[in-house]
Amino acid sequence: MKHSKMRLSTETMNLGFVRKVEALSGSSVRRCFQCGKCSAGCPMRSFMEHPPNRIVRFLQLGQYERVLAGRSIWYCASCETCTTRCPNKVDLAAIMDALRKCSWDAKGPSKESLVQLANRLFIENIRTYGRQYEMRLAAVFNVKSGQFLKDLMLGPKLITKGKLRMFHQKNRNIAEIENIFARIEALRKKGEAP
Ligand code: SF4
Ligand code: SF4
Repeated sequence: MKHSKMRLSTETMNLGFVRKVEALSGSSVRRCFQCGKCSAGCPMRSFMEHPPNRIVRFLQLGQYERVLAGRSIWYCASCETCTTRCPNKVDLAAIMDALRKCSWDAKGPSKESLVQLANRLFIENIRTYGRQYEMRLAAVFNVKSGQFLKDLMLGPKLITKGKLRMFHQKNRNIAEIENIFARIEALRKKGEAP
């Protein structure tokens, strides 16, 4: 993949953003010396246009737009392999989490806004039904993303194999699940949760 040249200047560097990511993740990007062990072990590396070590390098250089505009942070599966392998104790999995939070808060158009949409609908379903409702997730995603026929031919196959249900019942403990969401929101308002 061809990458544009990086231009470093006070205009392109946003060290305030980097400090925010460090505060949210509890991990310093300055500890990274670019050994690449995180990327070598990352199971999602082949889906990312920037490997995990390059994401840290961008952060060291204050290149927040490059980080947020890319799809790497959304393909991270939070498996923590990178964190475990890092010889300098850079908690890259937590940094990826923090970056997703920053991207979400920014609400700006990003290349992977469809991933954000899928994430949001996924969580909405959990809150509404107390479990995942795949049929609704796929239908609403297709409508909201404007891809009305996406994966349409897969539907009948999944239904006949019992992998996709037409209708769903709410989890009977839905009130408890709602309490969890309410508690998280209350903690966020107090700044005690990311
Ligand atoms: S946590 Fe994310 S970046 Fe780290 S190894 Fe797993 S998928 Fe890759
Ligand atoms: S393993 Fe740690 S030190 Fe090595 S490149 Fe990844 S984050 Fe940096």
